[in-house]
Order: sequence, then structure tokens, then C-alpha cells
Amino acid sequence: MVGYSAGAEFPQSSVDAESRADVLVIGGGPAGATTAITLARRGHRTILVEKDRHPRFHIGESLLPMSMPILDELGVLAEVEAKGIIKRGADFPSGSSPGYQVFRFNRSLNPTWPHAVQIRRQDLDTLLIDRARAVGVQVLEATRIEGVDLGADWIRASARGADGEPLSIAARYVVDATGRDTFLGNQLRLKRRHRRHQSAALYAHFIGVRRREGEDAGNISIYRVEDGWIWVIPLPDNITSIGLVCGPDTLRGRAGDSATFLWRTLRSVPALASRLEEAELAGHLEATGNYSYECSKIAGPRWIMVGDAGLFVDPIFSSGVHFALETARRAADVVDTVLMDPAQETALHREYAHSHRQAVKRISWFIVRFNTPVMRRLFANPRNDWRLEEAIISMLAGDFYRDGGIAWRLRLFKVIYALHCLADIPGALRGLLQLRKRRREAFDSEPALPGSV
Ligand SMILES: Cc1cc2nc3c(=O)[nH]c(=O)nc-3n(C[C@H](O)[C@H](O)[C@H](O)COP(=O)(O)OP(=O)(O)OC[C@H]3O[C@@H](n4cnc5c(N)ncnc54)[C@H](O)[C@@H]3O)c2cc1C
Repeated sequence: MVGYSAGAEFPQSSVDAESRADVLVIGGGPAGATTAITLARRGHRTILVEKDRHPRFHIGESLLPMSMPILDELGVLAEVEAKGIIKRGADFPSGSSPGYQVFRFNRSLNPTWPHAVQIRRQDLDTLLIDRARAVGVQVLEATRIEGVDLGADWIRASARGADGEPLSIAARYVVDATGRDTFLGNQLRLKRRHRRHQSAALYAHFIGVRRREGEDAGNISIYRVEDGWIWVIPLPDNITSIGLVCGPDTLRGRAGDSATFLWRTLRSVPALASRLEEAELAGHLEATGNYSYECSKIAGPRWIMVGDAGLFVDPIFSSGVHFALETARRAADVVDTVLMDPAQETALHREYAHSHRQAVKRISWFIVRFNTPVMRRLFANPRNDWRLEEAIISMLAGDFYRDGGIAWRLRLFKVIYALHCLADIPGALRGLLQLRKRRREAFDSEPALPGSV
């Protein structure tokens, strides 16, 4: 049997010995580093190319319990826990004391890990990239991939290093881990905006934000506003990450500058305003525009997308890094097998794409409806009949791929949601109008807001 790895010698023309690999991974975020670590450990010569230099700022600081075993497997869990804050749950506003409802991870349906971590992404991503180097991945930082030729016998990538010099890389397989840059999605014209949900986000680090007490000190807190939601993520050194996610029209039509608009919106929520009495901005504001999308294909002959490179959904449930790690690990299995036995590629790609899309589908229904009046009520007053609350906690913990009784309970939750809608027609209509507005914005909106303001 001739596999992609076992075939002809590496091409010689214009490619020096340093720039040949079994696998080229483009992008050094969690998805890219995890794929590279896994493949290098299995003996594949792996080059990872990252356009920035770590440590660098990135958003996505709240992790999920289901990511902890993966970080353990990668050999970085103890360091991640040491650099972060232990997160035992997620809290949402509630009318009853103490003013918020905690969904604690140790109460999930099939508890695997009782906590997650809140961590600066510059710390997480640096740990992972250092780990990649330690297991033998050739890491090229400050190097940008500019083009990939998938058509030839060998994949040929052209890159440009920090010194501006062009570089050519030959590989048998390419993994696109370029995150929201969606390198292959753009090159192959596969990227589509999410049909039903578009949002924009404005976020920053703050100092002096009042924390929850005791066991809840590491919770992520979610607050709702008229047209969106706010995250509050405690980080080490008294820093708190706070972000507003709202309709793109709301952000575009804001009165005043972004900082004034953000402060005004945060202070409009009384329960949050009281936590901000001594808070100050600790950095500059960042913005991300119209951001939900998916690629119509996430794998093809000798290429595969991992993490945000393939699709991105609203981060209300802090799912992004977990999807990055989980798809990376699954994609590494696919590439590992296909390099030895290319005949399995189509079937493995199909299975990879299907399981990922199903996992995303599991949470998308909740994301789209999260701000409707009926969903607000159900989240503020959860009930555990048929262990439904535990199933919701499993979803919040990142249990997107396994079943274990979760799927039918979430379906039952949808039925209960529908019954509540019937019992509250005005609330249901308001929810429907919100959904329609978001859908309209998805089609009317500009391509993107600036990355940094
Ligand atoms: C507003 C907002 C809030 C979020 N909050 C959370 C949260 O609380 N929790 C959570 O889990 N997720 C959150 N996310 C999602 C999270 O940020 C992403 O899902 C996660 O970073 C995906 O990891 P990744 O490795 O796929 O991509 P990334 O982390 O984006 O890494 C991609 C890497 O590829 C590099 N790259 C891009 N193009 C090239 C190129 N041509 N050549 C070389 N390198 C390239 C980039 O520099 C980057 O380092 C949030 C996202 C947004 C927008």
C-alpha cells in the first residue's frame, strides 16, 4: 500500500531541506498547536507556520471542563491551571437571591471534569506552542502563508518571513488552523455567513471589577442586554475580561465613541454596574464584526480545517477553544490514518465533518434563542425534571460530541420551550421579532468592523 507518507521522495526544486514536511499546519492558535503536537508525537514531520509571534493577545479566555482532559493529554494541564483561575461554573441573572443562578459543572449529567480555567490567551497559546516545539514540531513564527497550491502532486505553500524573504514549503497534507482569517475558506471560496445569527463584539480588559465570592469567584458571568449579552471573565492579577456582543446595527449606530458606548451599556445593567464601581479600563478596546460563518466544506483532498478556520458560532457558551481542541485532535487522527492509507480519506473526512457539524448544531439552537424572553425565563429558573438541568449543564461544560442521554433531554427542552412560547404569546412574538431582525442584519450588514478601535 502506498500512503501519502510512503510515496515518492520530497520534491527538490527550490525547496530546501528545512522546508519539507509530512504535514503543514497553518496557524499557531490552540487548534493548530494541538494538531501539530498530536501529529508530531505520532512521528510525522510537522511544520507549523504562525504569522504572529507568541505571546500575543487573543480573545477567547474562558475554557470549558471538557477541554481539561485534552490539555492533560497534551501535557500542559498543570501549567494551564497554574496560570489561570479555576472556573467552577457559569452564572446567569436570576430574580432570586443572590441575584444570579449558577450552573455548576460538577452537576453535569456525565461529569468528566468538575472545573475549567479562565486564562489569558497569550499564556495558553504560548504554553501550547512551546509544547509543540518540545515534541519536535518545526515552528516558524512571524511567518505568513500567502498561498497554497493544492493541485500539484505535492502541496506547495508560499510564505513570507519576518525579514520579508519569500519561503516555500512542500508538504503531503495541509491543516488550515488560521482561525477567523479562514485562509482556505477564502482561497477556495467556501466561506458563508451564518444565515441566522450575526453579531458584533466590543471588549477589553478591566482592573478592579468586583468578583463573585467563594466557590463562585472564578465563574463566568453572563448578563443580558436588550440586543445582546455581556461576558465577565475573571483573570489573574485582578484583571477581568468584559465584552459586549450585540447586533452589528447597534454597534454601528452607537452614539459617541466605542469606550463611552461600552461603559454606558455595561452600567445600564444594575447587577453589573454594582461590580464596576471601582473598575477601570486596563487596556485598549477591541472590536470584532459580523462574525458567525461556516465553510460549506471543511475537508478535501489532502487538506482539512480545524477550529475557527472551518466555522465559528457566537461564543455565548465559551465553546470556541473547546471546538478548536476537539477538532484538532480528531483531525490529527484523520491525517495520521490518511497519510498511511489515502483510500480512507473520503470516508474519514465525511465522518469528521458530520460529527463536528452535529456538535455545533447541538448548541446553535440555544445560541440563536438565548436572548428571547422565554429562554431568559427558563435559564433564570431551571428545573431538573428528567435531569434536564443537568443536561443543560453538560452542554455548558462542552459535552457537545458525546450523547450519554444529553441529546434527547435537549430535544425535550426544546419541546418545553415551545410550550412556554404557546403559554406566553406576546413573549414568543417578541422573541420571533428579535430572531428576524438578526437574520435581516446578517444579510444587510457590512463585511466586517475594524479589528481594533
Ligand atoms: C468576541 C469573542 C469572544 C470569544 N470568547 C471566547 C471564550 O470566552 N471562550 C472560548 O472558548 N472561545 C471564545 N471565543 C472563540 C475563540 O476566540 C476561538 O474559537 C479560538 O481562538 C479558536 O482557536 P483557533 O486555533 O481555531 O484560531 P485562533 O486562535 O484564531 O488561531 C489562529 C492563528 O492563525 C494565525 N494565522 C492566521 N492566518 C495565518 C496565515 N496566513 N499564516 C500564518 N498564520 C496565520 C493567526 O495569527 C492565529 O494565531 C471568542 C471569540 C470572539 C470573537
